[in-house]
Amino acid sequence: MDLTANIQPISQQQQAEVRRATYQCIKQAGLLYQREFKELQVDFDLSGKCAGMYQVKRSLRRIRFNPWIFAKYYADSLGDTVTHEVAHYIVDCIYGLRRVKPHGSEWQAVMRDLGVEPKATGNYDLTGIPIRQYQRFAYSCGCRIHQLTVLRHRKILKGRAKYLCQYCHGPLTEVLPEK
Ligand SMILES: [Zn+2]
Ligand SMILES: [Zn+2]
Repeated sequence: MDLTANIQPISQQQQAEVRRATYQCIKQAGLLYQREFKELQVDFDLSGKCAGMYQVKRSLRRIRFNPWIFAKYYADSLGDTVTHEVAHYIVDCIYGLRRVKPHGSEWQAVMRDLGVEPKATGNYDLTGIPIRQYQRFAYSCGCRIHQLTVLRHRKILKGRAKYLCQYCHGPLTEVLPEK
């Protein structure tokens, strides 16, 4: 977690309001397209830079919202982000996710039908919102484990750089995660 984070996630009461807005939006889509879309699970467990995410894992479809970004941009999120993720869900129900581009013409049409201008990503100032640290890659030299940035990791993979341990002067080799 970023130590400068100082935004508090939205309250239980606001979560309930967001959930209601989500189900309202799904109902609206049902009226528009004359079919029933089931209410799906709505969680507030998303962190990082995304305001929302529509996720399908096996048979579970759910929408995940970022309670920090919702806290900072509540009105926007309640309108745009909720509709954005519901539109992904509706497109999935109608076309199937594999058959369309994530923010392609089908998704854009659903957004317009639901009364929101289709923009793929929000342009938020994330100051104060906890952002996950950039991914690191573990390398070993023989004396210790080094955590390399993705930039250095890519340079090594492309053969454009070699790094030596500053303590034992051994070359760094990647520690592959155990499967
Ligand atoms: Zn999207
Ligand atoms: Zn070393």
